[in-house]
Amino acid sequence: SPVTKKIPRETLEKTERHPCYSFGAHHKFARMHLPVAPQCNISCNYCNRKYDCTNESRPGVTSEVLSPVAAGSKFIRVREKIPNLSVVGIAGPGDALANWPETRKTIELIQASDPEVVFCLSTNGLMLPAYAPEIVELGIKHVTVTVNCVDPEIGSKIYRHVFYQGRKYKGIEAARILLENQLAGITYLARHGVLVKVNIVMMIGVNDGHIQAVVKRVKELGAFITNIMPLIPAQGSVFENFSQTPVKALNEMRDLCQEELQQMRHCQQCRADAIGMLYDDRSPEFRSPVEKGRT
Ligand code: SF4
Ligand code: SF4
Repeated sequence: SPVTKKIPRETLEKTERHPCYSFGAHHKFARMHLPVAPQCNISCNYCNRKYDCTNESRPGVTSEVLSPVAAGSKFIRVREKIPNLSVVGIAGPGDALANWPETRKTIELIQASDPEVVFCLSTNGLMLPAYAPEIVELGIKHVTVTVNCVDPEIGSKIYRHVFYQGRKYKGIEAARILLENQLAGITYLARHGVLVKVNIVMMIGVNDGHIQAVVKRVKELGAFITNIMPLIPAQGSVFENFSQTPVKALNEMRDLCQEELQQMRHCQQCRADAIGMLYDDRSPEFRSPVEKGRT
């Protein structure tokens, strides 16, 4: 496709070592997530804030939170034991960009100890217009943005509120700010050689009739792949009584959307502190003794 042709060489080279963006890489390379981002700046109705962000992570277990310095030394420990470690991702447990100073510091520390590492970030996209230029400057080529809708009215059913520039917004106004920033951020990143993966949480009765429109829109803006994920209702969230999205409905939607854009099907919705190959989480080995006692 014209979009794929424009992908710069450096981005392609990094993608070949990224187990999530490249299907061929997922059984060769390992990734680790560093949980340095505890805060969030929006409130999704499927989130209960006790669990890792559903942007990228399965609800169920809270990850430890690390300081950038602790994250940097954990990276060194893990790399010694897992030589095929190629990717470091920052995926929560909140939003990578709602904790941008910590996220940025972590990336800089790791880049100083190993310039070959491929980084990825996942975010709800609210702060992308503010930080996308820095993301590009840092050389990050893989960003995941969760875009559940492109219509603020549908968004008002998904997002309870948005904290933006010191104010709290609700309803359609909140959704409009979030969606505008997501779409502007995707556009900027795609134009600057970043591969953008868009996660979409499929919620029956909320956005399931609208997912094809989301895929079409983000493709127009330059997204590389979409990852349609099931809603896994979290206890204590507004959507706790919703039913989990059936696998059959999910796969049918992926098949439909595949005609528009490449679909990711091997995402494991890893924890914010996942370590190792995609199908073999080794994070318990690397948790601190205190953390082991808690989980
Ligand atoms: Fe929770 Fe949504 Fe924030 Fe992720 S982006 S931590 S799911 S409120
Ligand atoms: Fe890859 Fe999905 Fe796991 Fe992220 S959550 S590391 S995209 S498999």
